[in-house]
Amino acid sequence: MLALQGASREHTTAFEKLGANVRQVRQPQDLPDLDAIVIPGGESTTISMLLESSNTFDPLAELLANGLPALGTCAGMILLAKEVLDGRPDQRCFGQIDIAVRRNAFGRQVASFETDLDIENLDDPFPGVFIRAPGALALEPSVEVLASVKFDSGEETPVFCRQENVLVTSFHPELTDDLRLHQFFLEHL
Ligand code: GLN
Repeated sequence: MLALQGASREHTTAFEKLGANVRQVRQPQDLPDLDAIVIPGGESTTISMLLESSNTFDPLAELLANGLPALGTCAGMILLAKEVLDGRPDQRCFGQIDIAVRRNAFGRQVASFETDLDIENLDDPFPGVFIRAPGALALEPSVEVLASVKFDSGEETPVFCRQENVLVTSFHPELTDDLRLHQFFLEHL
């Protein structure tokens, strides 16, 4: 669990409820022997800056490039993306999933909303909690879009994508009591 900034505690609780062993990662020494990394929601520019100042960005990038499974939620989705369409120039990302993301894709004013999401492979809708959320654009056919949100204009934006063992969501499953996405990630490590 990357625990530099953001909602790492809520994710930790969710994974621990499922019996997973969670280690907080704040510096390069915390990285060896991880089975997976979770990058929580928060502020992607701040997390990027803290990854650099703690010298954690490069070693984590190397692990990811070598196939470390990853879950990124919200800011974590931005950090795992290949391209940030409107990031800050000094903002870095890991490029582990072939999506382009637009920060605050749902508007800065209507900052937060909740909506039931139909997710592929889940029987019942999932409560999607969106907070200044990014929207994704799949750049390669190998990116599976598992859920999307429809704008009033009729346009759709992917909000849950997977490419091999990298999973990203625009929304915050850790802020609900629903553990199905955390379970899904553990099953796809
Ligand atoms: N808008 C934030 C960013 O750009 C993400 C918001 C969130 O993680 N809840 O990093």
